[in-house]
Amino acid sequence: MPELESFSLDPASPAEWSALRAQGHRMLDDLFDHLAHIRERPVWQPIPPDVRAAFDEPLPSAPVSLAEAHGRFMSQVLPYAVGNTHPRFMGWVHGGGTVEGMLAEMLAAGLNANLGGRDQMPLEVERQIVRWMRDLFGFPATAGGLLVTGSSMANLIGVLVARTRALGMVSRETGVAEASRGQPPIAYAAASAHGCVAQAFALSGLGTQALRRIPVDADHRLDLAALQAQITADRTAGLQPFLVVGTAGTVDTGAVDDLAGIADVAQRERLWFHVDGAFGALGRLSPHVAPLLRGIECADSIALDFHKWGQVPYDAGFILVRDQADQLAAFASPAAYLSRHPRGLAAGSPWPCDLGPDLSRGFRALKVWFTLVTQGTDRLGAAIAQSCRLAQRLQARILAEPALELLAPVTLNIVCFRYRDPTGALDAAATDRLNAELVADLHESGLAVPSTTTLGGRTAIRVALVNHRTDAADLDVLLDAVLRLGAQRLPDPVLSCEAAP
Ligand SMILES: *Cc1c(COP(=O)(O)O)cnc(C)c1O
Repeated sequence: MPELESFSLDPASPAEWSALRAQGHRMLDDLFDHLAHIRERPVWQPIPPDVRAAFDEPLPSAPVSLAEAHGRFMSQVLPYAVGNTHPRFMGWVHGGGTVEGMLAEMLAAGLNANLGGRDQMPLEVERQIVRWMRDLFGFPATAGGLLVTGSSMANLIGVLVARTRALGMVSRETGVAEASRGQPPIAYAAASAHGCVAQAFALSGLGTQALRRIPVDADHRLDLAALQAQITADRTAGLQPFLVVGTAGTVDTGAVDDLAGIADVAQRERLWFHVDGAFGALGRLSPHVAPLLRGIECADSIALDFHKWGQVPYDAGFILVRDQADQLAAFASPAAYLSRHPRGLAAGSPWPCDLGPDLSRGFRALKVWFTLVTQGTDRLGAAIAQSCRLAQRLQARILAEPALELLAPVTLNIVCFRYRDPTGALDAAATDRLNAELVADLHESGLAVPSTTTLGGRTAIRVALVNHRTDAADLDVLLDAVLRLGAQRLPDPVLSCEAAP
């Protein structure tokens, strides 16, 4: 047989390795420079058509150099990203990231670990995160947890665990309808709950109609009396209430449901109590915010994101379950090719693939661990408290400005307001249009990026202060730009005929 030539995608010689090393250092330096000078850049800028078109090319059969690929990243990708590392990014709910998290991503990619299972130290890093979260939320030693993409996945896992708990493991085989034996399962969340909660009902086969949306009070919190009345009515009607979802930090206004009150109802009615704490749950790290979350420690499961207020680079969501046995009941599946052994690399059961739907999983835990240990929870908590103080300051300036109107009380870090025509000439629909256009004007100005929402049928400018780099001067830039661009969008005053020459 002819000798088979060796082949690899790695550099072929010591000289090639040195060239790669130098190029790698340049790439790292470019990112440090980018982050160190982030303030000097526009938050966001529109993608030029030729740049967009540059990424519509045939699949490359021959290589280009790493330097050329990196050059394209620097000129065509980096300048046209969302901009959430920028201190004046205040749209949606996006974290700012940490440099330590960025470096940890590189280390994790170099290790190329698959965290589906097996006996490896990277899994001990993830288990450390689970234990830290267990302690932060006052959960017992029986608790289990898993890093996932984000809270959309974490909430889905929470719903699936609650469903299996209520309908039994048999529901994994028979499906929901048969397992519920003529008593359709029904769950509850406030009208203000995130859309991914309803989506979890669609994906889980329960159907979105199995999730009742409970009205909120004037503070945008779930109305407890309405919840209790609905549960009672549903039991009378032969339904099977099994789950209530509370939100720690609603995406619209940052309201926090009365978690202790919901916990009482859940205990009395024997419901699974899940908390969507996507951004708000990590408020536990701040002594100023933690009291607002009272009752979260009573939850059966909590979804949260490290990539929002935890400042860890995307993506890093997390699900914590009070009793890991419930999580195993919902997900663990026997498979010959995944069999465990008391020793060797196939030891260390249970594995993460027993606790959620993913088998192959990246080493998300490393960037979470790096961010937590290099910043420490005091500093991360201080960044959270600072966001809330900035929100209060923004609220005060809005209340003092006749051309601005506050649209919701400020609980945490989200401020909803709008520009209003000081002359009163614009009707409601025109004011809605003006505010939507004003936000797009702001985006295109590159000065600041808030987003919009609809509150009580009115278009709101929504500012979510999550980024640890944002300061008070950034809020002034935002409000000055809102006032200037808003005035520019007002209709010209009608000139009277007599005034014409
Ligand atoms: C962001 C958010 C989600 C969704 O989380 P992802 O990480 O984007 O999947 C769910 N609920 C709330 C309250 C959120 O703020």
